[in-house]
Amino acid sequence: MATPSASSHEKENPLESMMSRFDGAAQILGLDPETYSVLKNPAKQVIVSLPVTMDNGKVKVFEGYRVIHSTVLGPSKGGIRFDMGVNLDEVKALAAWMTWKCAVVDIPYGGAKGGITCDPRAMSKGEIERLTRSYTLSMADIFGPDKDIPAPDMGTSAIEMAWLMDEFSKTKGQTTLAVVTGKPLVLGGSLGRTEATGRGIMVSTFAAMQKLRMNPNKATCAVQGFGNVGSNTAKLLDERGIKIVCISDISGAYWNENGIDIKDAILYRDENNGSLEGYGNADKMDSADDLLTCKAGILVPAAKEDVITLANASKIQARLIVEGANGPTNSKADEIINEKGITVVPDILANAGGVTVSYFEWVQNRLGMRWPLERVNRRSDRIMKEAFDHVYKISKEYQVPLRTAAYIVAIDKVAQTYKLRGVY
Ligand code: NAD
Repeated sequence: MATPSASSHEKENPLESMMSRFDGAAQILGLDPETYSVLKNPAKQVIVSLPVTMDNGKVKVFEGYRVIHSTVLGPSKGGIRFDMGVNLDEVKALAAWMTWKCAVVDIPYGGAKGGITCDPRAMSKGEIERLTRSYTLSMADIFGPDKDIPAPDMGTSAIEMAWLMDEFSKTKGQTTLAVVTGKPLVLGGSLGRTEATGRGIMVSTFAAMQKLRMNPNKATCAVQGFGNVGSNTAKLLDERGIKIVCISDISGAYWNENGIDIKDAILYRDENNGSLEGYGNADKMDSADDLLTCKAGILVPAAKEDVITLANASKIQARLIVEGANGPTNSKADEIINEKGITVVPDILANAGGVTVSYFEWVQNRLGMRWPLERVNRRSDRIMKEAFDHVYKISKEYQVPLRTAAYIVAIDKVAQTYKLRGVY
């Protein structure tokens, strides 16, 4: 039977979701009200109108956003999302998540996020390029290698970052590679960046399995979303002996209890216009959401926010959830998940491998050097494992779930730094 999809009552705005976790951790930490109100509010919010000449010769105006949540730990860092669902609340939540994420993995960045309300799938390459360049020009005073450093997110990839770098460089009259990360390799991108988020999720999954005494050779896993994060996570887990029994994308969920050959599924997707539609080596389930409640020991939601809700939380069969997407579990579902004894490795920890290797890309650009893949992977694996162990230790110390512990680690670090820097 198809899993019922969440009603609007069960859905949650990502800003509410983020704030409810922030409030919980701030209370446990005993954060003073002044610091609380500073960390709660974004430092800067920019909204721009972007006129773009479309291929039919008509001018269309798009709305673009950049929210800088915090620069307490360093220049702000965060991706740019091209999607019809982009709005100020979503960007504000995503920007704050970036602050907490960078703090959890202890890299010297604050948090930001940007986006444009648009449907990139309905636009030509030329239209997307003009839109990206127009956005960059409008944000030329916001972005900068020591100020605010964008990266790709949903709907954007290396090519948009190349256009952004080029346009920014033109406004400054000098090539500025370090203004953006997630660039193509030949243009100052880092080896390992494409797989970095999936690799960090793999490291977090193994670290959590060890604590739960789960045997990887007997473990089964379902991965929601088969884009950058989902497919790379599935591939890396599959390569290490975990049986991936279910995968999904926007076209539906695909189940094979004997395990899906992920390399084969990736090949199929790449030859099928990026979609799993019609994938023959697994059975298509009634609904894409059936993946969330299927019989698998590990669940990796790696598609989008707000998918684990009051409507399906009680039916989840997994023992371990590792959050690949940002905000896949809404705060209303937390209680049920905790009552069921499911361990959740939260987004701000699990998917931080991406920003970690983005940081390495920025470091390499500034040094004028290129690191071999082995060095990138070794350093990011170490950072992810140390972050997991630290959050795990705090969760034991405070007797709280890993999510609350990750927020405690992050808020404590940003609050302490903020106080040391001083306020007048
Ligand atoms: P992507 O656009 O490459 O892939 C998204 C995938 O999700 C696609 O396969 C799409 O078909 C699928 N999808 C969309 N709606 C779905 C649904 N209802 N059911 C099942 N599948 C669905 O995006 P991505 O870069 O892989 O990002 C995915 C998530 O991970 C986002 O929340 C993003 O913010 C987060 N994230 C990405 C990175 C990164 O490095 N790319 C880093 C950290 C976090």
